[in-house]
Amino acid sequence: MPEEYSNYLQNLNERQREAACTDISTPLMIVAGPGSGKTSTMVGRVLMLLNEGISPLNILAMTFTTAAASEMRERIGAIAGKATAKELTISTFHSFSLQLCRSHAEKIGRTSEFLIYGQGQQRNAVIEAIRLLKNGKNRSKDGALLVGEESKGILTPKQFKDKAKKWQKFVTQAKASGRTSADYCELGNEIGAEILVHYNSILKSCNALDYHDLISCSVKLLTDFPEVFRECQDSWKAIVIDEFQDTSTMQYKLLRILASHHKITIVGDDDQSIFSFNGADVSGFMSFRKDFPNYKEIRLNKNYRSTRCIVEAASSLIRNNAKRCQLKNVLTDNSSGSKIVVKECNNEDAQCAFVADKIIEISSSHSETTCSFGNIAILYRRQISGKAFQIAFRDRKIPFNIHGVAFYRKKVVRTIIAMLRTALPDCDDSSYIRVFKALLQFEKDQKKRVIDHINKISTIRKCSFILAASDIFSAKISGTFKRSELTHGRKVLTTLEMISKLVLREKSISAIITSVADLIPEKYLLEKRASVDVDGGTLLNEDYDIRSVRQYLLDDVSEFLSTKFLEIKEKREISEDKGCSFMLKAFLDFLFERETENFRARRKDNENSVTLTTIHQAKGLEWDVVFIVKVNESEIPLLHDYKGIIKETGALVEEERRLLYVAMTRARQKLFILHVMMDSNWQMLQPSRFLREIPNHLLEVQGEMNIQVQLKQEAVQKENTKLNANELLKEQQFEEEVVPMPNDLLNSHITESSNELAEFEEANNGNTFLRRFNVED
Ligand code: ATP
Ligand code: MG
Repeated sequence: MPEEYSNYLQNLNERQREAACTDISTPLMIVAGPGSGKTSTMVGRVLMLLNEGISPLNILAMTFTTAAASEMRERIGAIAGKATAKELTISTFHSFSLQLCRSHAEKIGRTSEFLIYGQGQQRNAVIEAIRLLKNGKNRSKDGALLVGEESKGILTPKQFKDKAKKWQKFVTQAKASGRTSADYCELGNEIGAEILVHYNSILKSCNALDYHDLISCSVKLLTDFPEVFRECQDSWKAIVIDEFQDTSTMQYKLLRILASHHKITIVGDDDQSIFSFNGADVSGFMSFRKDFPNYKEIRLNKNYRSTRCIVEAASSLIRNNAKRCQLKNVLTDNSSGSKIVVKECNNEDAQCAFVADKIIEISSSHSETTCSFGNIAILYRRQISGKAFQIAFRDRKIPFNIHGVAFYRKKVVRTIIAMLRTALPDCDDSSYIRVFKALLQFEKDQKKRVIDHINKISTIRKCSFILAASDIFSAKISGTFKRSELTHGRKVLTTLEMISKLVLREKSISAIITSVADLIPEKYLLEKRASVDVDGGTLLNEDYDIRSVRQYLLDDVSEFLSTKFLEIKEKREISEDKGCSFMLKAFLDFLFERETENFRARRKDNENSVTLTTIHQAKGLEWDVVFIVKVNESEIPLLHDYKGIIKETGALVEEERRLLYVAMTRARQKLFILHVMMDSNWQMLQPSRFLREIPNHLLEVQGEMNIQVQLKQEAVQKENTKLNANELLKEQQFEEEVVPMPNDLLNSHITESSNELAEFEEANNGNTFLRRFNVED
């Protein structure tokens, strides 16, 4: 064994080493609490696979985010060498499935150019499906209500939108769980069954797949096509999966088929399962035990990450969850550290000020424990909470990084991406419409009139938007346009033509991006909303001027070329002479991953900046100092839906508790938990109920903490101490024993939580879904 490998393994503890060195043909399951070195052990496992002679080209590692994938590649590269690390496939489920579907598109009734539908396009398809239902035979009460009332004008547009949202959730849930229209027929939900049928056929006719389809189509490819199955068996001789608790039923199905050779390692922690709204299903652990009966299970129970105070506080919190699959007793040898600061702030501004001041204090060299910006993170429940921090940090010159969805949701970025799309032969209408909107330099009303007219002509003539536009502006069809409008329209067409020629002319994607970015009119950039998030919000012009946008995209190009493209090329035997158009398409697929995440892989330029992120996207990561902000009722736990209707269920509260648990366990040294007294509408807010579940002696309560709350906390604390003693006893009994969750409990857990999907997508700026090609201004 190379010395670097054995050094790495030597640094693992005994149990971690036992896991890493388990015979490679034994299915392995590593279950352990946060910070116990699961991911580190997984790296050790990959080294062992390499040492056993498995080629890096034949190893598939699944991680939850591309950030985690890059980090893992880096860690393995440092030990096994960069060249070996490059050859590994380290991927997310979605990007893996995307590649598989692209390679075999015709087998799933698409061309390899298929589009990926984001949330907005999915919504439009659902609305279309509902409209088709109107003329169908089966009209259940609900469907008739929706369609009938809308057509009679009884439903307001808002109500109609809400109903459409409801059906969209239904479609998403059906797909995540792998239920088909036949299943819904059997369950007596005929309207649901019909909507699914229409929805699927609409996507098929548009040559599109949605996010969940990527997974289910991959399963279909592997089950129905033996040659695809064989190809995958030949390609992936060993599989390792991190964050297993967040795999959905369909993703698990995919894994099970891919791992028919049983060379599989799964790594996870059911207490950190926080994506059930997206179909994640912790029952995967039980399925694994059933499907791989000769599995070996290894528990790790020592936390290396956090101070004892943080470990104890987090453990006390999670102990309040009744439904836990595997009870774990997490211990640590680390020092006790300082108490967790719980700070009450009058409002969000005060909260920002406190955090900013604290960061300046702890990052200054005068501080006792100096900490660089790169070792600090602000975690929040909803993306929107990050905005105020961006402004406060900018004012105080604190560098921060907030890319990913926030970046890819900028209008100007989406416009550049749409422009790149138009350079491809299979470009969809929505990209053209977006580009037209950006390039037409008219007043808003005039712009709308022109675009509506083109749309109308394209509907009448049943042709594409671009064809209609070109007929109108070349005056083949008479329109009601002024001469200046015609001239200008022609100019836009010429620009589009130029873009399509770039692909033939330019030799690299970087050159294409540079040229395309320069085509964006200055007037558009100066429009108030150009650099705003698609759903509004704070202006961030300074951060996203065209130069920095271009630079960020070019950064992505270099990352794409250095890892992803090589991977695609080597695996799929693609030669570069397929040309720039192929590269561009692969690059756009790569961006698809970027958009699903909240912030990009931590790279050099981010190393010395504070991280702003949602808790969901902070999974698996760690920082010395962590601020969890707005830990209030109505945030964590977030129990109301997008209409404000409270839906408090046990399962939901438990998932919310896990979310706070994940957040707390990101901190190595110092944890701040903040809550506010009043929101921006002067509504009084309560501190989160979960704060009362953390033992008082671990907390340093600061600020205007209401004395009554404190008294109540103490009373609850006494109760908890009693409960905790019992729980501890129970835990000791069960430590080596698995306590399975009854199936029905699991199912109810999933159904209830997944109802929160749409709200969540909104809350998290769609960090689970894509909105790239939507034209939903
Ligand atoms: P999470 O559940 O949050 O994903 P994890 O179980 O994957 O956590 P890691 O991220 O692998 O934990 O490790 C947490 C920290 O502990 C890292 O900083 C890692 O370097 C350190 N660590 C892990 N194992 C050991 C060990 N045996 N000795 C010293 N440090 C360790
Ligand atoms: Mg981990």
